[in-house]
Amino acid sequence: MPGCSVCGGPPSFTRRYSGEALCTTCFKSSIVEKTRRTVSKYSMFKRGDRVAVAVSGGKDSLALLEVLVQLYRPRRVPIVAVSVDEGVAGYRDEALEHARAVCSRLEVDHTVVSYKELYGFSLDEALDWNEERDVSSCSFCGVFRRRAIDQAAAGAKATVVATEHKLEDYVQTFMMNLMHGDVARLGWLDPAYADSAFPVRRVKPFMEIYEEEVALYAYHSGIPFQSVSCPYMHEGLRSEVRDYLNAMEAGHPGIKNVLLSSSLDVISRYSGSSDKESTSCRNCGNPSSSDLCAVCKMKATVEEHVKSRD
Ligand code: SF4
Ligand code: ZN
Repeated sequence: MPGCSVCGGPPSFTRRYSGEALCTTCFKSSIVEKTRRTVSKYSMFKRGDRVAVAVSGGKDSLALLEVLVQLYRPRRVPIVAVSVDEGVAGYRDEALEHARAVCSRLEVDHTVVSYKELYGFSLDEALDWNEERDVSSCSFCGVFRRRAIDQAAAGAKATVVATEHKLEDYVQTFMMNLMHGDVARLGWLDPAYADSAFPVRRVKPFMEIYEEEVALYAYHSGIPFQSVSCPYMHEGLRSEVRDYLNAMEAGHPGIKNVLLSSSLDVISRYSGSSDKESTSCRNCGNPSSSDLCAVCKMKATVEEHVKSRD
């Protein structure tokens, strides 16, 4: 069997799309180096930035934190971690324990905000409302989650938020936008697009890395894996797109990479064209494309529902 393509040592992983065989040490270095190249290519971090890593407590976000600390702490870039406690008994408690343990090992300041303190209800409390609606749990939860991350990042005085999105997340979102006929929002996926919908800039340093490689990196780095998954997980179309892409990749190794570069090419043509007139929500003052932002709209509906039940 041929040795590691880099050092000649015993290989532990073969990258199917490139044919490279790598030992554990060289595989881990390749993930760190790929992340560095992505950050640099899209100028994700700017001079003077304070980076908040959005840490769910799952293996991918903790791997991202670990890689960014390795890469940027020696360059004196301040890095903090922010987490959101949606209030899902059993599930998020375990994830937050992992997040606290890894942040403490890496000596990273960690801020946790909860739906309960920000919105007045936990996800557990809100979801009987959602069951009556035609909104998937994750779309519903995601609206509150994005706002919560912004608030936590602002509280931690961060200028940029790094999220765990991998290559698959990126390509799936691209395809879903096409399937929903949401072409106008493609520009929002531009890695260099400063989205006015978010008060704090967003970057995805893992966007060029396959999710199985991020998982393997986490495993080899001793990052804890969660034993339970979210009981409300309901991604609708996204899981079908994921299964389809995985089947394509199994038959045609590297096709996801090609899809990523095609997506980026198409997206660059739409970048900037999707800017809607930016206005502020009349209730909370956050950036919004309409009079009332999505968070305030959904929050009002949950509150109405809770009142009508009491
Ligand atoms: Fe929210 Fe979906 Fe994540 Fe559960 S899996 S916490 S519902 S986004
Ligand atoms: Zn609002």
